[in-house]
Amino acid sequence: MIARKIKKTAFKKQNEEVCGFICFEDGEFNILEVENMAEDKSSEFYISAKSFLYAKQNNNLVAVFHSHPSGNEKLSKYDETCSEATCIPFVVFSNKTGKFSVYEPEFLDTNRELVEKMKEELCR
Ligand SMILES: [Zn+2]
Repeated sequence: MIARKIKKTAFKKQNEEVCGFICFEDGEFNILEVENMAEDKSSEFYISAKSFLYAKQNNNLVAVFHSHPSGNEKLSKYDETCSEATCIPFVVFSNKTGKFSVYEPEFLDTNRELVEKMKEELCR
């Protein structure tokens, strides 16, 4: 289940934000973790343009995920701006609260039905 997969990845690094993509393949959600390229990994994440493009071209992308190791699951203003700019939903998991939040940009470049299905799986 997708929630479990994200939690497991997030808890591997308690002092760093982990990040990657949520994809849908063969009837289920999977995560594709990518390296966090940010300078200060404790409070921000950055996915390189190369990883982003590669993931987009080779997977059925549904959303971008990252963890907040010390903050709550709410997206920062910057997280929201990035979601809007890429037209991809952002999923945040907080190691502290153990909760998820999902942000949907105004213009969506991924499959709306899959986004709904993902929300159901993350929030139940
Ligand atoms: Zn964030």
